[in-house]
Amino acid sequence: MAGGRRLVSVLGMGYSRRQMLGIVPVAAVSAAWPGVSAAARPEGGSVLIRNVHIFDGRRMLDGRRSVLIRDGLIARIGDLAPEGVAVVDGRGGTLLPGLIDSHVHTFEGSSADALRFGVTTELEMFGEPGQLAAAKRQRRSRKQVTAADLWSAGNGVTVPGGHPVRPGYEFPRVLPDTDLDSFVADRLQEGSDYLKFVYEPGDPPDRPLPSLTLAQVTATIAAAHRRGRLAVGHVEKLKLYVEAVRAGADGIVHVPYNAVAGAAEVEMIRRSGSFAVPTLSVVDWGLGAKSLLADDRITPWLSPTQEYLLSQEPPERPGRPDLLGIASANVRRFHAAGIPVLAGADAPVRANVSGASLLTELEHLVRAGLTPAEALTAATAAPARHLRLADRGRITPGRRADLILTSADPTRDITNLRTLHTIWKNGYQVDRTPPAEVRRSSASMTVGQTSTS
Ligand SMILES: [Zn+2]
Repeated sequence: MAGGRRLVSVLGMGYSRRQMLGIVPVAAVSAAWPGVSAAARPEGGSVLIRNVHIFDGRRMLDGRRSVLIRDGLIARIGDLAPEGVAVVDGRGGTLLPGLIDSHVHTFEGSSADALRFGVTTELEMFGEPGQLAAAKRQRRSRKQVTAADLWSAGNGVTVPGGHPVRPGYEFPRVLPDTDLDSFVADRLQEGSDYLKFVYEPGDPPDRPLPSLTLAQVTATIAAAHRRGRLAVGHVEKLKLYVEAVRAGADGIVHVPYNAVAGAAEVEMIRRSGSFAVPTLSVVDWGLGAKSLLADDRITPWLSPTQEYLLSQEPPERPGRPDLLGIASANVRRFHAAGIPVLAGADAPVRANVSGASLLTELEHLVRAGLTPAEALTAATAAPARHLRLADRGRITPGRRADLILTSADPTRDITNLRTLHTIWKNGYQVDRTPPAEVRRSSASMTVGQTSTS
């Protein structure tokens, strides 16, 4: 496939010989906080995790508690005695819901990379629909799996020549006379879980892009809502952002990067009830990537593909405005006004990777004004609520046993999320060992490229 050839050629450049040989750096993994002994390795999706502090998706519960997992679901929380299942001593670590990344683009192996960093659920915001039937099967089952569960917009709604400019595969696009109602019905028929529209004129006069009109955006949203589905948008410009949420968009999967919203605009966005997925990692110009590559709590677990992507230098852009500053100011204002903020890193755009970059995205959200607990909610309970993932995102009985254990408390310092120690998916402990081989992607590495790139 064209996309696959392109990635292989990309991988041929700037990739160290060591990496090409598939030799993964093996840094010393901390033995000081063993947490889970090998003998306690859970089987069959049932386990008792004892002696942990619990962040339930909204708040820290008092004291140290135990969580009983049965058949991949959280059965009980409290002061529990062992009852015939494997026991794990959490040794005073912090147990949290598995992380939810509300903005990714997948390619071969990316959802496995996500899971090894505690991201147990991914929301794709434009991608090939061919994988969606398998994704739906996986997320309904409670079997042992090696990749994050996936929801996806599938093919997005955009015009010929519009964003995303180089998705690496062909997909239907909207023409001036396209009937949006049947276009949306076709996407749902393909397996899209929700609709993603692109309202993005680029940056005229230098970098203009053709875009959907506001009337087409409105028709897309209406067609999705008639069928009981969410409609989310790629919008980067403040004026268009306000137009899109007034047209009924359920969420925008970026924040404005061109201007800081004033009080009246923030109020209009708040009243719309829409959520925002700021994707600050896209405009941090490699800051997050550098900090991950310099951290020996992170590097032992990176796959060669993740390591390669993180080491990409973002393009020089002389005179580039302070996109991270503008976007962070919008996050601060949105959050203060009560607009729901969901965490998404938009991997693999611009030195972002599945899994690890969500950790730096949460650090960006804290710098922008969320408390660490609020940032954690943005990656757990908040997406579960706003993206309608009713079976996960909280530590409460009946929810799926997607859990992560950190040795230090990330509600005190969000960077403590980097002490991620053990991951459970459907109650099964996840093997964090990265693959040795460079994966040959069949999808694009540039699908989510924004016009600010
Ligand atoms: Zn994207």
